[in-house]
Amino acid sequence: MTQDTSCRPDTILANALGRHDGMTGGVVPAIHTATTFLRAGDLSYPTGMIYARPSNPTFDGAEALLSHLEGAAESLLFGSGMAAATALFQTLSPGDHVVAPKVMYWALRRWLRQFTAQWKIDLDLVDMTDPDAIAAVMRPGRTRIVWIETPCNPTWEITDIAAMADIAHKAGAILAVDSTAATPLLTRPIALGADIVMHSATKYLNGHSDVLCGTLSCARADDFWARIKGVRGDLGGIPGPFEAWLLLRGMRTLAVRVERSCANAMAVARHFEGHARIAQVLYPGLESHPQHALAARQMLGGFGGMLSIRVQGGEAASIRAAAGLRLWTRATSLGGVESLVEHRASVEGKDSPCPTDLLRLSCGIEAAADLIADLEQALAGL
Ligand SMILES: *Cc1c(COP(=O)(O)O)cnc(C)c1O
Repeated sequence: MTQDTSCRPDTILANALGRHDGMTGGVVPAIHTATTFLRAGDLSYPTGMIYARPSNPTFDGAEALLSHLEGAAESLLFGSGMAAATALFQTLSPGDHVVAPKVMYWALRRWLRQFTAQWKIDLDLVDMTDPDAIAAVMRPGRTRIVWIETPCNPTWEITDIAAMADIAHKAGAILAVDSTAATPLLTRPIALGADIVMHSATKYLNGHSDVLCGTLSCARADDFWARIKGVRGDLGGIPGPFEAWLLLRGMRTLAVRVERSCANAMAVARHFEGHARIAQVLYPGLESHPQHALAARQMLGGFGGMLSIRVQGGEAASIRAAAGLRLWTRATSLGGVESLVEHRASVEGKDSPCPTDLLRLSCGIEAAADLIADLEQALAGL
């Protein structure tokens, strides 16, 4: 049975597109661990599947569900968010040009610098909140990829996807969006003109801090997409079948988790804005956020579960505040059911644009009052 796809995303997610196990009628899909598939006497492959590096049937459920949510032609699972993002850049050739944000997921920025230098690809890291600045660095015919992240880590600025798509397409480039923090529920980049959407499925899509996985989705299954597929198939940057199965299981509760995380983030942001011990709250849902109007236009039904706070008293005070927390878990990553806190500058190192007094907060699905009370007691102890 497949589901009526005119239903709302929450319904589609809960029922995982209504797919059941064709062999047994099992309501939960099966895990396929086979690495190789039967070949007929005439040398054809009856199921179309040959070998588990290019094709794995356990991926189908999560890929189809994600494509539906993103309005994508196709989606691919990768072994991590980094495996997904780097597969895209591995389609480039020497002499190509890439535009990416100054403020973005730090490990990808670090890898992009090293990779583009090694392969003689030109890289411009720009302020993505200023479309004029991007237009100025574009090199028509040479710029291949414009990479954006919105809301961006760890300051949660918003990038105007439709404006960037316009700029990228005018120069003959594709627009790729790291939509990890927005989830497929809060922003739909393809509908706004993006060509590729990437998620670290390790975060909200799985949502339980127990699967490492990444995804790419495409607006069109064109030649460029075929090259990305080739990179995945040849290099083998894929998750195991159990991870793919857990991802689909996690995705079924995405809508309720995201709704609660957004509500918690908004409650924490509102409570601590103007607080005596807090210099600034960075959250796109606050009217004080420089791109609040854009966020309200571009984001659907919520501003995400991520925010950052800048603690009065600088770096030392901010690290002490994180040390005093009892409920918030001090750990990297985001998008799980448990709330996490991290002093980002000490992770990102010297060339990071992250302020040193900043704590990044990933709001889980606990009661907002408990999250606020814990932050209050940690700040009171400064
Ligand atoms: C975590 C993260 C990544 C990298 O994903 P992995 O699954 O850890 O490889 C990329 N972008 C953003 C915004 C992330 O939060």
